[in-house]
Amino acid sequence: MKPPRNPRRAYDADGNEIPPVTVGQSLADGYRTAMAYCEAHDCGHGAEVPLKGWPTDLPVPDMALRLRCSKCGGRRIRMMANVTELYDRAHGAGKTGK
Ligand SMILES: [Zn+2]
Repeated sequence: MKPPRNPRRAYDADGNEIPPVTVGQSLADGYRTAMAYCEAHDCGHGAEVPLKGWPTDLPVPDMALRLRCSKCGGRRIRMMANVTELYDRAHGAGKTGK
């Protein structure tokens, strides 16, 4: 029997857990923040969470366990890569004179 699935993990077609990205990996990839979204019904509040200060070996999805929605106080949080940050970088924003 397979172990129960973790709702904060992704699984491939065979049901094998896909290793989550850690805080350290995200920082190495150039991310400085992650997006946290509240999953509460009728809330959907989203916030940028700085990656700095979190343990580098902590899986980014598990940051949700220590966060609470600042709008409704809900604890059902989903973590996402901050694609806005990636977009800004791809379009040359935020460069510091290289
Ligand atoms: Zn909320």
